[in-house]
Amino acid sequence: MRTVLLGATGSIGTQTVDLALQHPGEIRLEGLTTRSRVADLAVLVKRLEDVGAADRPWISVLDIDAHAAAAADPILSRRLLPPGEDGLLAAAGLEGVDCVVNGLVGAAGLAPTLVAAERGRRLALANKESLVIGGGLVAEAVRRGGAEVIPVDSEHSALAQCLCGRSPEELESLILTASGGPCRDWDAVQLANASRADVLAHPTWEMGPKITVDSATLMNKGLEVIEAHVLFGVAYDAIDVVVHPGSVVHSLAVFRDGAMMAQLGAPDMRVPLLYAITGERHLPLATDRIDLKALGALRFAAPDEERFPCLRLARDAGRAGGRMTIALNAANEEAVAAFLADRVGFLDIPRIIASTLDSTEPADVSDLETALAYDREARRLAKERIPTL
Ligand code: NAD
Ligand code: MG
Repeated sequence: MRTVLLGATGSIGTQTVDLALQHPGEIRLEGLTTRSRVADLAVLVKRLEDVGAADRPWISVLDIDAHAAAAADPILSRRLLPPGEDGLLAAAGLEGVDCVVNGLVGAAGLAPTLVAAERGRRLALANKESLVIGGGLVAEAVRRGGAEVIPVDSEHSALAQCLCGRSPEELESLILTASGGPCRDWDAVQLANASRADVLAHPTWEMGPKITVDSATLMNKGLEVIEAHVLFGVAYDAIDVVVHPGSVVHSLAVFRDGAMMAQLGAPDMRVPLLYAITGERHLPLATDRIDLKALGALRFAAPDEERFPCLRLARDAGRAGGRMTIALNAANEEAVAAFLADRVGFLDIPRIIASTLDSTEPADVSDLETALAYDREARRLAKERIPTL
C-alpha cells in the first residue's frame, strides 16, 4: 500500500509509522508531513528507510521557519515540498499513491481530505473534524473521485466492522461507547477547578492534547455522533452514547430484530489504523489481547449531559447542520486552545461554545470557501468570549 501520512509526528502519525515498521511489505510511506517537528520527522524517516518501509519519501513542513530547518537537513531536504498549505495539499494529492492517512488535528484537515478524496484515494481518516465541518463536501468529493473513506476513530472502525456485509435496511441504531475521560466522576466544583494536568491524564487512551481535552468535556463524543451520522447515514435520534469506563467495547450496532453486534479489543489505535490502511483486513499485530476471565465484567452507564453539556451542544449543532457544525468545531478548537494555555477554566469551554452558537445563524455550506469563511467568523466570535491576558 503506497501511503501518504499527514501529521506524521503526532499520536496517530507515530502509531502509523510503527505499523509500517511492523509491516514494511504492506505499508510503504511515499510522503510524510509535520507542522514543525522537523527533528522528530527526520528520525522517523530514517527508521522507515532502515526497514525498507520508505525510500526518499516526499516531505511537507507547514511552518516556514521549520521548513528552513528541513531544507538544511540531509534526510528531509532530498524531496521537500513547499512550506505552508501548498506543500500539505501537494502531499495529500501525490501521484501514484493508494492510501492517505489523515492524522492532522482540527479544521486544518478538511482541505487535504478533499484533495485525497478528489484523487480517488483510500482515505484512512482519523481527522474527524473533516467530517464534522465538511460532511457534505467530503461525500461529494468522494463520489466525484471514486474514493473510499475508512474511519480510524476506534468507535467508527468498530461500527464499520459490525456493519461489514450488512445492508442499511437491517440496521436500527448505533451505540457509541465513551470512556468518560478523567473527570467522569467529578462534581461541579471539581470540574470548575479542573486543571490542564488533570484533564491530560486520560485513563485509557494516550492521544494528542486537543482530543484528550475533548474526551474530558465529552465534546469528543459529540463530534463522534456527528461523524457517525455522516459516515453511516443514521438519524441523530438513532445514535446513542453510553459511558463504558474500560474502553473494551469500542461501539455497537443494533439491528432491526434487536440483535446487537459489538467490537471488542485492547484500546490501541494501531488496530483501527491497520484495518483502515489495509482496506478492512485483520492482519497480524503485536498488541494486548483482552483476557475476559481476568476482566470479569463490563460496565455501562448513561452520560451526564448536565455536567458535560458539550454532548448536547454537538447533537443540536449536528441536527441544524451546515454552518452550525462548523461554528461548534471552531469555537471548541479556540476554547480548548485557551484552556491548554491556562487562559480559561474547564467549564468555560462549553460556555464559550454555547455562546458562539447562540450568535450564529444556521446556513447551508456548498463549497470549501464558504466553509472556511464560516470557520473564521466563528473563531472570531469565540475569541471575543475568551479573556485576553
Ligand atoms: P496530535 O496533536 O498528536 O498530532 C497532530 C499532527 O498534525 C501533528 O503531526 C502536527 O504536526 C500536525 N498538525 C497540527 N496542526 C496542523 C496544521 N494546522 N496544519 C498541518 N499539520 C498540523 O493529534 P492526534 O491525537 O494524533 O489526533 C489527530 C486526529 O486524529 C484528530 O482529529 C483526532 O481527533 C483523531 N483521533 C486521534 C486519536 C488518538 O488516539 N490520538 C484517536 C481517535 C481519533
Ligand atoms: Mg474515538
